[in-house]
Amino acid sequence: MFKKNSPVRKKAKKSNKLLTLIISSLLCSQTVAIGGSAFAQQNQNNEFSYSDLLSKIQEEQIERIEIDPETNIARVYLKDREDDNPEMVKIFNDNRDLISKIREQDIDLAVQSSGASTSAIIGGLQLALLLFLIIGLFLLIRKSASSAAGAMSFGKSKAKFQMESETGIEFKDVAGIEEAKEELQEVVTFLKTPDKFTAIGARIPRGLLLIGPPGTGKTLLAKAIAGEAEVPFFSISGSEFVEMFVGVGASRVRDLFRKAKENAPCLVFIDEIDAVGRQRGSGYGGGNDEREQTLNQLLTEMDGFEGNSGIIVIAATNRPDVLDGALLRPGRFDRQVIVDYPDLQGRLGILEVHAENKKIVPEVDLKTIAQRTPGFSGADLANLLNEAAILTARRRKEAITTEEIDLAIDRVIAGMEGTPLVDSKSKRLIAYHEVGHAVVATLTPGHDPVEKITLIPRGQARGLTWFTPDEEQGLVSRSQLFARITGLLGGRAAEEMIFGEDEVTTGASNDIERVTNLARQIVTKFGMSNLGPMALEEDAQPVFLGGDSSHNREYSQDIAYKIDLQIRAIIAQCHENAKAIITEYRPIIDSLVDMLIETETLDRTTFEKALGVKS
Ligand code: ADP
Ligand code: MG
Ligand code: ZN
Repeated sequence: MFKKNSPVRKKAKKSNKLLTLIISSLLCSQTVAIGGSAFAQQNQNNEFSYSDLLSKIQEEQIERIEIDPETNIARVYLKDREDDNPEMVKIFNDNRDLISKIREQDIDLAVQSSGASTSAIIGGLQLALLLFLIIGLFLLIRKSASSAAGAMSFGKSKAKFQMESETGIEFKDVAGIEEAKEELQEVVTFLKTPDKFTAIGARIPRGLLLIGPPGTGKTLLAKAIAGEAEVPFFSISGSEFVEMFVGVGASRVRDLFRKAKENAPCLVFIDEIDAVGRQRGSGYGGGNDEREQTLNQLLTEMDGFEGNSGIIVIAATNRPDVLDGALLRPGRFDRQVIVDYPDLQGRLGILEVHAENKKIVPEVDLKTIAQRTPGFSGADLANLLNEAAILTARRRKEAITTEEIDLAIDRVIAGMEGTPLVDSKSKRLIAYHEVGHAVVATLTPGHDPVEKITLIPRGQARGLTWFTPDEEQGLVSRSQLFARITGLLGGRAAEEMIFGEDEVTTGASNDIERVTNLARQIVTKFGMSNLGPMALEEDAQPVFLGGDSSHNREYSQDIAYKIDLQIRAIIAQCHENAKAIITEYRPIIDSLVDMLIETETLDRTTFEKALGVKS
């Protein structure tokens, strides 16, 4: 075997011993199994050294030698061996002496790589890594090259508009905006049977503008038209026209209309048209070339197709006032349909639409929900029922009950529920404040009834008193307005009467703000004060119609002074009334506060029973 004094060889020897040990044990078991030759085993155990090799060469006993250049191990096949097992011998690197001796004896010599050497493996790995890097680099370069090319071909391939061949939405899915629906029914007829109109020489309108606050169902309505008429629906948002590169918007408009023409009859819906359709040349910051180009392209496209080509463009906005006049002239968006917040009946209709695919217990009265949600848009109502459904699922209930719906309404109106306050002086003060609102409001003729009082914080509020508007109030009377002011002041009045003027808190700031606004409107807008029926303030347009909320003052200093006096008189009068009610009902208020602190929430029945009024 190897020489003992070389440490490397020692190691090798050790491992070799281990190897022979394993082999022998393997063979042993084999021996047991077949009961066969013990001779082979012995032979295997004989070690074959370098000197053995040399002597065997000398004796011409060797048939063939194979040398592995990586490991420098020679496999020596002996002539007189029955089996084919070679002897393994470690030889020295570059052993010319040995080679020449082998040559002399004319022994068959082969150089054969085992291929399993570590150096070979490492070399292979390095090669693989290099290849990998090269491929990665190549891909990277190709990608950046293609994105650079993409920057040059903008607007062409990147179709930013969506196309739906069938929207699957019908008019019955849209509720609560009946007038708008009626107007749009006609558009469906245009799209379905244009011949009827063209035969008698009528020009079919090309563009239609839906105006209304967010969430009222403008997109839904446009989809319903496409669905009813069974035509494809193309949609793009105005903001998607405008991009980094000048000219992208215009090319997108061209792309959109080219696609639309290929698919006519169809409906093109442009959401948020105010993003591109603002008046040209008057933009903040010195105009916007990109937007103007886009708008010009839009106008050109709308002029470009014939009235009977079967394309109808519907645009939506909540700011019609900022639109460029050219967009609104005949032949473009000449028809305008207002889509406003739904009224009581409308809300009921929308709730019915969205309740259809939900499991709701039969006791739930959708009408009550509609009554509780004035000012909700269609999207708000849809969201409300969805929240209730989520809550129901979280509670592992089978169907939505009134309880979940109530919680969902509270959350939508007033925000997320907070953790209840700990019992403290400030909790008592809040309780008096809320009970003050409830008692004063209920005892003032003309006020809406209390729905519930709660001390559970929500959103910004630390306590809340909810009122149910009795019916959809189109017109509000003078006494109702005064009752509202009195009720709003009931909270602060209770704080003053129970805790003293020095102890009142900032909690009433929102009440006071609303009181002041109401009183000002009574004087300057509704003409219900001693100043007589005079419009002293221009009606501010609803904000969604683009009106600004600043007041237009067109009166003298003298009148301004009188207005202030009137406002103060109204508020003072209502404040006095509120304080009188608090004083008179103090014992009941005290017991109501105790009940409220204990239960956190008082509902209408409990409250009215305690107060001794019947609803
Ligand atoms: P807008 O485009 O006016 O902002 P959407 O049409 O996008 O509002 O409305 C959002 C969602 O609110 C709709 O998908 C629908 O579920 C619901 N919704 C809004 N208005 C109505 C309505 N009148 N009837 C039924 N659902 C409505
Ligand atoms: Mg929309
Ligand atoms: Zn208050």
